[in-house]
Amino acid sequence: MLHIGCHLSASKGYLAMGKDAVKIHADTFQFFTRNPRGGKAKEIDENDIAAFLKLAEEQRFTTILAHAPYTMNACSKDAGIRGFSREMMADDLRRMEYLPGNFYNFHPGSHVGQGMDTGILLITEQLNAVMNPEQHTTVLLETMAGKGSEVGGRFEELRRIMDGVRLPEKLGVCLDTCHVYDAGYDIVNHLDDVLDEFDSVIGLEYLKAVHLNDSMNPAGSHKDRHAKIGEGSLGFEAICRIINHPKLQHLFFILETPHDTLEGYGAEIALLRSCHQEG
Ligand code: FE
Ligand code: FE
Ligand code: ZN
Repeated sequence: MLHIGCHLSASKGYLAMGKDAVKIHADTFQFFTRNPRGGKAKEIDENDIAAFLKLAEEQRFTTILAHAPYTMNACSKDAGIRGFSREMMADDLRRMEYLPGNFYNFHPGSHVGQGMDTGILLITEQLNAVMNPEQHTTVLLETMAGKGSEVGGRFEELRRIMDGVRLPEKLGVCLDTCHVYDAGYDIVNHLDDVLDEFDSVIGLEYLKAVHLNDSMNPAGSHKDRHAKIGEGSLGFEAICRIINHPKLQHLFFILETPHDTLEGYGAEIALLRSCHQEG
């Protein structure tokens, strides 16, 4: 069983997202917890949540993935932005408790010239301030392309963040195929080696989700421009190897490919299901 879905707009609520996922034969999806450019989150609608949970059970959905807004930067130079980031994450985690057992993914941050050590320290501090032993959500660090001063382009950087967090059992990693390729990990020609490296640096048991994207740019370009599946530098064959890899098969895959319509994602999901072999 291939667990796959795509990024969906959260503007009409959870039930609407669930129905969209069903339409395109997805059994998971990703959504922004609030406007990706920041701002206040919508009020929780308990009726909408209850209706969504019922649908998710009927349709045998797997776990879903919330994505933090892009304005969150736990290691900004500006203390005001750091405070705002912390509040947003704390509020998001509180809201996620209405959907227990799911995942919350965020971009570790950009250290904006303060250096990698300071960046890693500030990100760790944010996580320790907002995570709590009672939470039912696993917080995922996303692997980044290493664009500008981004933290998380190297597996070692994610490892160092995890080493500083007091609740490692509530942490995981989301591997973005476009980002790791752009960061210089050659998952087209050396997928096994990259997964071995991930395992020795981070531990494959922490790998909880995959953002499945092609990339517009070559390996090591540090650009972070997503392409449609099969239309970028990774190519369709390499992406099929990823979803069929014995060490990845059990995970769930989220498409963040550039489509304007639900049908575009639906076609991509059908294509990927056709190259998936039951293992
Ligand atoms: Fe992301
Ligand atoms: Fe991503
Ligand atoms: Zn990206």
